[in-house]
Amino acid sequence: MRRAPRGTRDILLQEAARWQFLEKIFREMCFTYNFAEIHTPIFEEAELFTRSVGEESDVVKKEMYIFRDRGDRELALRPEGTAGVTRAYLEHGLHRRAQPVKLYYFGPMFRYDRPQAGRQRQFYQMGIEIFGSGDPATDVEIIKFTSDFFARLGLLDLNLQINSVGCPRCRPFYLEQLRNFVRDKTALLCRDCRQRARVNPLRLLDCKNGDCRAALKDSPQMEAYLCPACREHFTAVLRLLKVLDVPFEVDPFLVRGLDYYTNTAFEFVSASLGTQGSLGGGGRYDQLVESCGGPPVPGVGMAAGVERIALAMEKKNLWPNEDVPSGIFLAVTGSDNEGREEGLALLYQLRAQGLKVEIDYLNRSLKAQMKYAHRHGFRYVIIWGEEERLSKRVKLRDLQAGEQREVSLQELGHLLSEQKGWIK
Ligand SMILES: [Zn+2]
Ligand SMILES: [Zn+2]
Repeated sequence: MRRAPRGTRDILLQEAARWQFLEKIFREMCFTYNFAEIHTPIFEEAELFTRSVGEESDVVKKEMYIFRDRGDRELALRPEGTAGVTRAYLEHGLHRRAQPVKLYYFGPMFRYDRPQAGRQRQFYQMGIEIFGSGDPATDVEIIKFTSDFFARLGLLDLNLQINSVGCPRCRPFYLEQLRNFVRDKTALLCRDCRQRARVNPLRLLDCKNGDCRAALKDSPQMEAYLCPACREHFTAVLRLLKVLDVPFEVDPFLVRGLDYYTNTAFEFVSASLGTQGSLGGGGRYDQLVESCGGPPVPGVGMAAGVERIALAMEKKNLWPNEDVPSGIFLAVTGSDNEGREEGLALLYQLRAQGLKVEIDYLNRSLKAQMKYAHRHGFRYVIIWGEEERLSKRVKLRDLQAGEQREVSLQELGHLLSEQKGWIK
């Protein structure tokens, strides 16, 4: 028997319905916040990611699916969404339109990582981006969106952690201090961090290794080295969060795994989910558009992981009740062909009215059809037999209420369309 490749999963039946629910809430939020949808390819030129996400980042260095196609182009399956959206923003000249430009996406991303619960090699993200404004209120809009989204799902116990990672003016000076700090501690660091100390010292801060954490406990903090512009920006973001009653916690060790962040970095973390506790995060990326070959355009965004959110919903028992009976099963009985043909005609008439209707295709007995309708969660059964054909009156059985009545075909259409809202 063939299986889906390691690190990938089929999403079907109940799980697919649940994902649909998450997507629906997300799209509704994007509507009210005025984000427009964008679909970008799942593969891009590999260079787009090496230049934006960062050559030395774990994502590019260890986790990216990179391949040559038959035309010898070097391509990569997208490991995240923002780089592709930024490429599209420039390619379609959106930077020449009225700013800001607000976009959202929902789709699969790919990272070659060790699979575990909530972490797949093909995983799904929903994300939002705002290009063309450096106003701290746009950072806050992104954060508020994320906070509102989780609240609508019922995920209320998440902590918002926030930090400023500075800018190209102030960060190099801080990184120098960080390097100096770890210089005599390299023996205490994990192998990855020894390398990070040389090429990407900021990432020392978010190593999960206990020895590294202990070694960095009293390290210098970015906040003390922020330039006046970065300090002012960060202060304004925090002030607005307070004004809007969004609780947060400044975490000086929060840096994100992608190199393109400047100023604000944030994450929503669930304490009860352990290492998979980060459900979504993002930040400001004022250098990204430029590093993709465009003019200097500020930007800020967020991405949230569908698998992890689903896991958190599951653990906290937050999924809406899915066992509510819905739809109509049209039970056709009798052996004559004409009756069945008229039954099929009725099926499509009801569907054309926007109702969810199913029929038997396996020549089951009436009893078996009733059993099927019960088992598959239908709310109503319409019985269409010889008697009903002749009298033009059908039996309408409400499986939930356990009632049955006889109605004319005319009444049926009327009756059901009145209840369409909740029968679907
Ligand atoms: Zn700065
Ligand atoms: Zn480490």
